[in-house]
Amino acid sequence: MVIHDVVVIGAGLAGMRAAIEAARNGVNVAVVSKVHPIRSHSVSAQGGINAAIAMNDSWNAHAFDTVKGSDYLGDQDAIEILCKEAPEDIFELDNMGCLFSRDDKGSIAQRPFGGAGFPRTCYAADRTGHAILNTLYEQLLRHGVPVYEEWFVVSLAVENGICRGLIAIDIHTGKLHRLHVKAIILATGGYGRVYQNSTNALINTGDGMGLALNSGAELMDMEFVQFHPTTLKSTGILISEGARGEGGYLLNSKGERFMKRYAPNALELASRDVVSRAEQQEIEDGRGVDGCVLLDLRHLGEALINERLPQIRQLAIDFEGIDPLKELVPIKPGAHYSMGGIKTDVWGATNIKGIYAAGECACVSVHGANRLGGNSLLDAVVFGRRAGYAASHYAKEAALEDFPEAVLKDAARDISIIMNRTSGERVAGLRNELASAMTVYVGVFRDKDRMDKALTKIRELRELYKNINLEDKGEIFNTELISVFELGHLLTIAECIVIAAINRNESRGAHYRLDFPTRDDKNWLKHVLLFKDGGGIKFGYKDVAVTRYKPMERKY
Ligand SMILES: Cc1cc2nc3c(=O)[nH]c(=O)nc-3n(C[C@H](O)[C@H](O)[C@H](O)COP(=O)(O)OP(=O)(O)OC[C@H]3O[C@@H](n4cnc5c(N)ncnc54)[C@H](O)[C@@H]3O)c2cc1C
Repeated sequence: MVIHDVVVIGAGLAGMRAAIEAARNGVNVAVVSKVHPIRSHSVSAQGGINAAIAMNDSWNAHAFDTVKGSDYLGDQDAIEILCKEAPEDIFELDNMGCLFSRDDKGSIAQRPFGGAGFPRTCYAADRTGHAILNTLYEQLLRHGVPVYEEWFVVSLAVENGICRGLIAIDIHTGKLHRLHVKAIILATGGYGRVYQNSTNALINTGDGMGLALNSGAELMDMEFVQFHPTTLKSTGILISEGARGEGGYLLNSKGERFMKRYAPNALELASRDVVSRAEQQEIEDGRGVDGCVLLDLRHLGEALINERLPQIRQLAIDFEGIDPLKELVPIKPGAHYSMGGIKTDVWGATNIKGIYAAGECACVSVHGANRLGGNSLLDAVVFGRRAGYAASHYAKEAALEDFPEAVLKDAARDISIIMNRTSGERVAGLRNELASAMTVYVGVFRDKDRMDKALTKIRELRELYKNINLEDKGEIFNTELISVFELGHLLTIAECIVIAAINRNESRGAHYRLDFPTRDDKNWLKHVLLFKDGGGIKFGYKDVAVTRYKPMERKY
């Protein structure tokens, strides 16, 4: 058995920033990650990170844009913290050695992004996540924080509402380990792979949200799934919002710049939900091109594209066979970001003593019904730091509680049942069916009939899942076994998304109901909470924190 004060699950931006803060606070902290830290999905973030660092910008303007972007569902107390603390976190990353792009004067350069009233997005060309994640990894090594690399967390040990530790499988050996700890920070990222057409890494399976829900934590805002407007036709690979921020625009099959009909002022830089819906409408009305619309970057010229958007040019060439310098890029909306997640306060604390969460798996909620581009990297850094601070202070005071041995026995028994089964369902087939049902029935446009079909399908798949059978019966690097756990979480998350979406009879942000097409503040200016009670999932509600920005109609 291994003992630590604090264990962070996840080595993306949120997890590494949390671990560095805990190490600075002098506690014994370690990180567990199912992949090598710099393979975490944060590495693929392209366009940038928001902060009001310019003289003629203000945190207040950033907060207003974020509240408006959230369709007034974001909690304004948390948004104020996010925007006020942003500049200091950016300067700290800069001082750590993060290679942000520079303007002519040598200051950190900023570009326009969707839904923002000011060019507020700091960037490192179109590889911002790569730059920040590597910087944080250097700091993690500098602080000597141990990383249990390629260890997969299978369960949390919680008894009487208090965290006691976790069980993880070492993927190299197949051995189960107990980590006996006072506090856990969940920083496991999003669940984008619940959909077929997704910008997310294959590892983004919502594990932390599933683990938390199973241990008695509450999830919040699960009905809100962000579809990014520009993902490549064949693969769903992301083409950063930076492409439109730098001046790219969208065309339909008639060559019309259609956004002028949907968002006459902001055009392509309206918020993501607005642009994704406009694209989907054009496609469904027959003005698409082979299920897509077209992104035009040709007028930006070779110098600008090679300096500021080199990665997306290469991605379009490698994965679509199209060079954006000379050709139009076929793009469509794709699942991108999880607005909902584990409910936390502004210090990352959940309703379970000693369990904290930060980053995409958490819901503070600063993004409400729709996240602005560039605010997620920021959320991960700001609230990762705060969760690291709070968890380490908690661990300094708290006692190390007994470790419930039954948790290890249960995990070993579950694995042995799966390994000894000789016939049954294969993981990949069920995972594909789930992703395709979610894509067809719970997309940019939703209605009750289609979502009921999704729910029926998810529940059928849940039954089949009970009889999963593995081809690989070995212990060493059994990634098929890992994918069983991941599928379990995907099924749980899919069910949470759908029941919350069926429940919310209005349209707000990314949740657009064809059968309830308007926003209804009278009945629905509130968060939906989900938690486990007995076998089933139950609903709760929480008021939205409104500080200084009164809800009004949202226009771009
Ligand atoms: C292609 C792409 C581009 C993006 N571009 C931007 C952008 O420009 N600006 C912006 O603000 N946002 C962007 N985002 C969103 C942003 O990158 C993410 O929301 C953010 O990086 C998430 O960070 P995280 O630390 O919460 O999680 P991640 O970086 O996803 O890390 C999750 C970690 O959890 C670990 N983990 C998960 N499950 C387990 C388990 N069971 N056991 C052990 N470890 C586990 C993983 O190993 C990993 O280390 C982008 C997202 C994508 C997909």
